[in-house]
Amino acid sequence: METAYRNFVDGEWIESERGDTFEVRNPANPDEIVGSYQASVRADLEAAIDAAVAAQDEWADTPGPERGRILKGTAIALEEQRESATEMLVREEGKTRSEAGGEVGQAIDIFHYYAQKARDLGGTAKSPSASGKVLYTKREPLGTVGLITPWNYPVAIPAWKLAPALAAGNTAIIKPASAAPNMTRILIESFDEAGLPDGVANFVTGSGSEIGTPLAEHDDVDGVSFTGSTTVGTMVAQSAADDLKRVQCEMGGKNPTVILPSADIESAVDIVGVGAFGTTGQSCTACSRAIVHEDVYDEFVEAITQYADSLEVGPGLDDPDMGPHVSRSELDSTLEYVDHAREDGATLKSGGHEVDGDGFFVEPTVFVDVESDMRIAQEEVFGPVLAVMQVGDFEEALQAANDVDYGLSASVVTQDITEANRFVEEIESGVAKVNEKTTGVELHVPFGGYKDSSTNTYREQGDAGLDFFTTTKTVYMNY
Ligand code: NAD
Repeated sequence: METAYRNFVDGEWIESERGDTFEVRNPANPDEIVGSYQASVRADLEAAIDAAVAAQDEWADTPGPERGRILKGTAIALEEQRESATEMLVREEGKTRSEAGGEVGQAIDIFHYYAQKARDLGGTAKSPSASGKVLYTKREPLGTVGLITPWNYPVAIPAWKLAPALAAGNTAIIKPASAAPNMTRILIESFDEAGLPDGVANFVTGSGSEIGTPLAEHDDVDGVSFTGSTTVGTMVAQSAADDLKRVQCEMGGKNPTVILPSADIESAVDIVGVGAFGTTGQSCTACSRAIVHEDVYDEFVEAITQYADSLEVGPGLDDPDMGPHVSRSELDSTLEYVDHAREDGATLKSGGHEVDGDGFFVEPTVFVDVESDMRIAQEEVFGPVLAVMQVGDFEEALQAANDVDYGLSASVVTQDITEANRFVEEIESGVAKVNEKTTGVELHVPFGGYKDSSTNTYREQGDAGLDFFTTTKTVYMNY
């Protein structure tokens, strides 16, 4: 039997105290095991937290340029294994080769970006109210942070939490999702290669309830950054809030694209199609609702149906248009939503079935005649299922777009500048896009949601990523 990968605690690769492990399988070929990992227990987590706390002062005192040099070294170490890391991402999560290559590239860029930021954390100098005084602010690290990540972007999301956390002088414990821990392990190996001091980044695998909740609750953890479902994120936020620690949760979405009469239908279909079926619909920003003006509804429905029918579904290593779901349970959940949509009265135009074979494949699926009160229009499916809704005018479109509990990403397709601007003004969403797909985010601008998509405390990425991981000290000096 293959040896299980270990936790990384205080610079050492170590086994869990209990000795249990779990397997990670290739979703395109579930017979293939792509890694075994430690099913850690609380004692393993405690050791990781102790190591992170012990390393914190020295890491915070390490000059920013030196922290940045190590982050740059991490980017270079990752770059050197770009090909093998991309292949591992395909094999553990199911993404197509192109999607996985893009994500690994994004992670490399994130480390380069925060490597620069580490030397430039800054503060502000303010005019004092009397002479002989100096008044300024400085940024300090939060301390030791807990990072809890999902399986769907298993390298980009750990990168966009770890890089700003470490750039700002924090030490960290990261717990990746059990469906896809390989990529975080590769990141940790890259840190090690770049010379990150012991204890600064610790990696502990295992179940959410056994180590995720204790990580969020722990007294010695000063901040918790979570990405995942709204259900779990809400519990994490509550656990963290008990001792007033700083917490940030980025969660689910039910993202709309609104298509108005002036839209070029060909580009609208590309925008919706890539947004809905790219990454097998397993993006928090995936387009799951197309809200279409009645003047262009029939034309759009025909074209998006053809688009969905034309997609090639298969193992990500062959780089088809769409790979599998990450797991049997995610596939089953998508098929349940297909049943719900039918029961609620939506009309199936394309797909809706599991694809024969060994992997967790499903057809790209389009439902039309969807009404706002149906489950398919309200709940996050997290699969390649598009709900198409018809509206009579711009106001109705905006109302439908906002008529959900989520508010992560939203887009409008129009050539009308007034509609574009009104959409940006009135959409209840952390990311608003015009003539762009709902998916895809740039690493140097803030990312996060409104409503139930976020705790709405802090944003991630760009300078906002550093805001979460730093605290401000105001200095009054009388000389
Ligand atoms: P999930 O909520 O099931 O799990 C996320 C992480 O939380 C995993 O590491 C999991 O082990 C851990 N966890 C589970 N139970 C826990 C508990 N009781 N206490 C602490 N931690 C616990 O989410 P998932 O299935 O891994 O990911 C899919 C979800 O993530 C979707 O809802 C998607 O929209 C969301 N997501 C959001 C963003 C964003 O930036 N808004 C990005 C990617 C994914």
